[in-house]
This record gives sequence, C-alpha cells and structure tokens, in this order.
Amino acid sequence: MTTTIIAGLKLRLKGSLLQPGDEEYDTARKVYNGMIDKRPAFIARCANVGDVIEAVNFSRENGLLTAIRSGGHNGAGLGVCDDGLVIDLSGLRGIHIEPQARTVWVEAGNTLGDVDRATHAFGLAVPSGVFSTTGVGGITLGGGLGYLTRHFGLAIDNLLEANLILADGSFVKANARENADLFWAIRGGGGNFGVVVSFLFRLQPVSTVYAGPMLWELEAAEDALRWYSNFIRSAPDEVNGFFAFLTVPPVAPFPEHLHGKKMCGIVWCYSGDPEKADGFLHSIHSFRTPALDFVGPMPFPVFQSMFDALYPPGYSWYWKGDYVNELTDEAIALHLKYGAQLPTPLSTMHLYPIDGAASRIGNSDTAWNYRNATWAMVIAGIDSSPANDELITAWARSYWEALHPYSAGGSYINFMMEEGDDRIKATYGDNYPRLAAIKRKYDPENLFCVNQNIKPGPLPAETLLS
Ligand SMILES: Cc1cc2nc3c(=O)[nH]c(=O)nc-3n(C[C@H](O)[C@H](O)[C@H](O)COP(=O)(O)OP(=O)(O)OC[C@H]3O[C@@H](n4cnc5c(N)ncnc54)[C@H](O)[C@@H]3O)c2cc1C
Repeated sequence: MTTTIIAGLKLRLKGSLLQPGDEEYDTARKVYNGMIDKRPAFIARCANVGDVIEAVNFSRENGLLTAIRSGGHNGAGLGVCDDGLVIDLSGLRGIHIEPQARTVWVEAGNTLGDVDRATHAFGLAVPSGVFSTTGVGGITLGGGLGYLTRHFGLAIDNLLEANLILADGSFVKANARENADLFWAIRGGGGNFGVVVSFLFRLQPVSTVYAGPMLWELEAAEDALRWYSNFIRSAPDEVNGFFAFLTVPPVAPFPEHLHGKKMCGIVWCYSGDPEKADGFLHSIHSFRTPALDFVGPMPFPVFQSMFDALYPPGYSWYWKGDYVNELTDEAIALHLKYGAQLPTPLSTMHLYPIDGAASRIGNSDTAWNYRNATWAMVIAGIDSSPANDELITAWARSYWEALHPYSAGGSYINFMMEEGDDRIKATYGDNYPRLAAIKRKYDPENLFCVNQNIKPGPLPAETLLS
C-alpha cells in the first residue's frame, strides 16, 4: 500500500489513523484482557459515522483484515487484530433520550455506565450486563444478559432499531420493517453483518434496586446451589440473582475475618415495586443465614458499577462458558470440586439466569438460540499477573471439560474464547443456516470475520440455476 493511499485516508478522517510507532499506538491497541497482545497495521479512531464509512471502504479496497472495537471488553480479544485495521468506535459517544417515548439512541462507543448515568435521572434504564465498563456494541450484538434479564429480557429484546455500515460502505437502518432479516441477525449474531454505529433501545422503568451480594461458607455450597436452583426458577420476573464461587477481596467494606476466603454466593437484584421489596428480602432470607449480606436499596447505576474496581482493565482473563438447563447431582458435585479450587483471588464461576422474560421469546424470533436454557454459565480464570496465565487457563479448561457433558450444548458467544466453528454452530443451532444466508447477503466476502464468525452460506439454488 502506498503512502499516498494512507495519507489520503488520514486527510479524509475527522478522527485519527494510528500506525505502529505513533505515540498513542500502544495505548490504542490495548484491550481489556491483558492476555491479548495484538499489533494492527492501522487503528482508525473514528470521530463520526463518516469516518466509519471511510474506514470500512479503506479496509475492503486494500484487502485488510478488519476488527471492530466498541468497549474492547471481549474476552477473546476480538476487538483488535494482528496486521489489519481496527475500526475503533470508542469516540462515538452520543446518547439521545426521548423520555416521553421511553427510548434512547446510543452510539456504539458508549459503555453500559455511560448509558446508565444518562438514563437514571429519568428513572429509566436499558437492560444489559453487570459491569458498567463493558461496551454497548459487543454486549448488545451478542445478546446482553445481566441484572434485568429475568424482568425485561436481554439487551436485544429491548433493541428497536440499529444503524449500520455494511461491508460495501453503505449506511442502512435495521428494524422490524426495514431490513428485517438484518435486524433479526444482529440480535445475537454478533459483529458479523456490519458495523453498528448506533442502537435505539426501549427504556425500562428501573431506578432504585434492592441488590447486592449474599455470601456463605463453602461448606454450605451444595445446599446453596440446590436451594438457588429451585428458588430462582419459581421466583417472579423482577427477582434476579446469579450464583458465584469467589474469593472475598481483602478490602473494605468486606469484613476482615472473611478477607481472602473462598466462598459461594448469590448476587441479587430486585427491580420490582420498592413497596414490595420487603417480600423479596424475606424470600431470599428463607435459605440459611449468610456469612455476609450486602443486599439493600441503591440506585441502579451504583449497583451496576459495584464490581468495576475489582476488575480493572489489563488483567489476564481466560474464560469458557456453556448454557445449562439443569443442575444435576453430578453437575453440583463437579461445581463443588472446582469451585473450591479457584486458582487465584479474582477467578470465579457465575451462573446467570436466562429464564423469566428472556425465555418467553422464541428461539427463532432472534438469532439468540438458547431461550429455553435456565442459565448461561461462565468460568473465568482471572489474575493481575501474566505469570499465572497458564494456571488460570488450565483451571478454567478443566472445570469446563468436567461440566460440559451436563450442559445444554452451545455457549453464549460473549463468554467464549476462539473455540472454532463447531462451537459457533452449536451455539446458533437451527438458526445457523439462516444466519449464514443473511451473512452472504450483507457481507459475502466475510470482511467482518474477526468475531465468532458465521461464514457466508451457499448461494440460494435460484441464483445458481439462473
Ligand atoms: C468484566 C466483564 C464483564 C462482563 N459482563 C457481562 C455481562 O454482564 N453480560 C454479558 O452479556 N456479557 C458480559 N461480558 C461479556 C461482554 O458482553 C463481551 O466481552 C462483549 O464482547 C464486550 O463488548 P465490547 O464492545 O466491550 O467489546 P469489543 O472487544 O469492543 O468488541 C467485541 C466484538 O463485538 C463486535 N462488535 C463490537 N462492537 C460492534 C459494533 N458496534 N458493530 C459491530 N460489531 C461490533 C465485534 O465483533 C468485536 O470483535 C463481560 C465482559 C467483561 C470483560
């Protein structure tokens, strides 16, 4: 590629085009997972939608590998690539609320915290994840599960429309009426179909939640898992709680006698009528007295960012996941074994419920294919030091290998490393052929392949015959 072509792009961008050697290059290529160390040839730091079009055209015309980055949180590091071009959307931070209509337009570079802080003043929220630092782009396109999933569904269940730049550089809208096939595909199909520059979400009435962790000694883990498994499945939609194995951080406000202790727990979030919160609090205390109980009223954005400081960017992460229907006796026994062996203080296992509102949408209504599973499980080996990369990876893999036979099959794409085509096909199941056909229509050359990749499907029979 000639320097003239590169200089031409630099002139056309309102944002910047970074290359190796540029001052900001090393900061800009970093992603949240410290295990990922990729060196793109170009990073297009887009300042507006026009920049995104320029970047997509530049990539396609020059045959570059193309990665799309919103929040940079992807575990597998799919927001960056070696040698090619990164389309960095983190400069697109506009948020526009229509309180009367209860909708919000969110540009793709925002984090969940940006959105929460903008909507909270109106007593409204977009249902999505459990960390405020996660990027809206990747989490939404993968599905988006979190504290409000049982009450209001996944993030994609609250998505009304999106604006995209396709592989040919064109700008399109996708909603239930316009490009409805594309709208179906982006609700779970990840970044396969184009660069989403903005999302229109329906807002839900969430302001103060009754929320926080409740922890028990590991000796109670078997009973806690059994109680939780029954409790959550019969709980009303407005009650959410994810189960976890964890190590108590050695910091306030955790009591000193629990510092560094491996425990099990449930992180609750009640988003229903505050006047009925007493009933919720009473019900979650029907299991044995916890060793620690931090459940109480708090503003939703405060809760959503409660664990951010424990997991700053740059730590090593290796994670694996599966959807889970049942916690059988065998599965519980394996959880107890591996949960007691958390290899580092930050390593953890979470079971996120996906029943309630999320399960009342059909598997083929959106690309997200596991509506009938009860949980999305994630096993995350995490450490502040790269010296423990092998340790956390080996633990997460062996935990997952032991549990996988008791899982529902595929995995939530946002809880996957690069695990190959078979895992992606297992995840999309019967939706995969339809996704592959839509991929052929909107990205036939697979320009957007740095993702949990759906390969363009075969040409339709009519096309081959004509
Ligand atoms: C600490 C932490 C907590 C998390 N908690 C949750 C949680 O509660 N719930 C949950 O569901 N997930 C959670 N995740 C997983 C998260 O959803 C994924 O890591 C997701 O990929 C992050 O999105 P991002 O925009 O930050 O990532 P990026 O690394 O920027 O992007 C990831 C991939 O998404 C695609 N992509 C991103 N933006 C766009 C776009 N605008 N257009 C097209 N494609 C795009 C691209 O394929 C890209 O490769 C968590 C991750 C971390 C690290």
